[in-house]
Order: sequence, then C-alpha cells, then structure tokens
Amino acid sequence: MSKRIVITGGGGFLGSHLTKRLLDEGNSVVCIDNFFTSCKRTIEPFLVNPAYELITHDIIDPVFVTEVDQIYNMACPAAPGHYQFNPVRTTKTSVMGVINMLGMAKATGARILQASTSEVYGDPTVSPQPESYRGNVNPIGRRACYDEGKRAAETLFFDYHRENKVDIRVARIFNTYGPNMHPFDGRVVSNFIRQALAGEDITIFGEGLQTRSFCYVSDLIDGLIRLMNVDDFTGPVNIGNPHERTILDLAEHVIDLTGTGSKLVRKPLPPDDPMQRCPNISLASERLGWSPEVDLRDGLAKTIEYFASLDLSEWTPPTPYWEAPPVA
Ligand code: UDP
Repeated sequence: MSKRIVITGGGGFLGSHLTKRLLDEGNSVVCIDNFFTSCKRTIEPFLVNPAYELITHDIIDPVFVTEVDQIYNMACPAAPGHYQFNPVRTTKTSVMGVINMLGMAKATGARILQASTSEVYGDPTVSPQPESYRGNVNPIGRRACYDEGKRAAETLFFDYHRENKVDIRVARIFNTYGPNMHPFDGRVVSNFIRQALAGEDITIFGEGLQTRSFCYVSDLIDGLIRLMNVDDFTGPVNIGNPHERTILDLAEHVIDLTGTGSKLVRKPLPPDDPMQRCPNISLASERLGWSPEVDLRDGLAKTIEYFASLDLSEWTPPTPYWEAPPVA
C-alpha cells in the first residue's frame, strides 16, 4: 500500500537515491532539507512528480508534517570536511534535529528510522565490528561533533522508544559510495575519482594502510528499506559491505579503472582518523535477509561514469574544507 514518507536530508547523496526508490514503488515523499551540503540538482527530476513535496528547512528548528506513515531521518552533514566546518551545528542536527523528528514520529504515530553510522564505533579495537561493540570514540576530538552527536541520537531514539513507545529503527551505515555523491565532499571515493579523471595527484592521507569497507549505494538503500519495513526489530543494525580494503587498494582500483596517469601523493592523516572499519553483518543477514551484492569494481565503474558526466565548473564545494579537514 502506498505510504506518505518523510525523508530528512532528502536532497543528499543517500536521500536522493532513497527518494527515487520510494517514489518508484508508488509512495509519496516529503523531502525536508536545508541544502547545506546537498544539492538541488539531485532532486530536480522529482519536482514534477505530484507525489513529491519539498520543504526547504533545517531540522534544528521545529517542523511539522501531518499524516505521515514513515520517517527516514537522513539529515546531517556526513563527510568529515563538512561536519567539522560548523561542529556545534553538526551536534545540534543530531540532538535538536533528532528531538524534533522524534517529536513528529510521536505525534503522528509514524515509524522512524535513524541513519546512524559506523562512526559510533570510533577507532575500533575490535574488527569486524558487531553491533554489541560499544566503541572507542574520542569525545573531545575533531570528529566528536559527528560521532558523539550520532551516539546521542541513538540514545534519544531508544529513550523515545522506551518512554513514548515510538516505533524506531536504527541503521549503522558504513562507508557508502555511488552516483550523486557531491564531487567536492572530500571523501576518499569522490576525491580519488575526481583526481584520477583530471589527471591530478591522488591524495593518500597517512600511509594509506587504514581500512574502510565500501558499500555501493543501491545495496545500502535496499538494506535501509528492508529495515524500515521489517516488524519487531529496532536494531541497531550494521548496514555496510564487509569486504575490508586499505585506502591504497582503493586508489589502485580507481587508477586501473580510469586508466589515469595520476601519481599518489601523501598528505597528513587527519586527527582521530579510524585505522580500521569493517562491519559484521550477521545481524542484517539474519533479521533482514540482507547482504550487499554489488562488487567494488562494478560500483566504482558506475560511479566513475557519473563523475565523468559532470561539468565540475557548475559545482562549488559546500565548505572550504573539502580537500582535507583541518589537522591542527
Ligand atoms: N582519505 C585519503 N585521501 C583523501 C580522502 C580521504 O586517503 O583524499 C582517507 C581518510 O584519511 C580516511 C579514509 O580515506 O582514512 C576515508 O575517508 P572519508 O573521508 O571518505 O570517510 P571516513 O570513513 O573517514 O569518514
């Protein structure tokens, strides 16, 4: 049955893919976005759809939408350079914004899903990370506004669930990539592809031996939708690709797939940059019947094709920190 679904951050990388899937499935979507790091270009195709509504708004301030069945709370700058640009605002998004959205869920009876993050595990001492791992987060570091903000958001979700019977879902999202990433988000996949296509140096932060696990966006969206629609399961649940790779390995794939002559250059490792990150996805597999299907090379090829189609002169970096977040 068709549902009325609110997506905060609906103009962002994940939000735009989620919107397309939900509209294609016959739902109506209300996007709430302040377009701080997201881009109106990604939502342009939806604006003509009568089942799509846009509210330009920052969830830090109260907002109310009626007759809602589901809420995906995707709003929050997620790339390190973006969330560290105005760290207090980042924390506010995950605390005041989340309180506002949980209030909407409580008032409307809507089920609400939180886009949480692998960052709640900080620089993990356990790998792969199961949901039961409580994390190793520096509460006063540069990443804390995001990491601790998202941890506080999970706390709020579970307290609203216990105290107010709000129907919650919490997904811990690991590194995701694909078309619609902002070309100047400063993330490793976008930086490497942009640099490779331009024949510029590829910037390796630190030794490049730190690991990440890269999930293609269609797999991630599938996991989120399954979580939202499964009964009797709040999570938290890891949604990510369990294939762990070094950053150097990623660079080699991008060089190979683009055929670039770009060279690798070293840059300082940003503070508190996690050394490893890899999800244990047993719970997602057991409760959601979910596991990722898209191979890294296939996903990178689609992402490279998308980046190659962009006219970068039409894009501006959302924050001054896009090549690398501050080190000091
Ligand atoms: N990184 C890099 N070169 C870049 C951008 C990022 O080596 O141009 C590294 C970064 O230090 C981190 C990893 O790639 O270890 C992933 O960074 P990203 O910003 O994509 O996301 P994170 O997982 O750190 O939030």
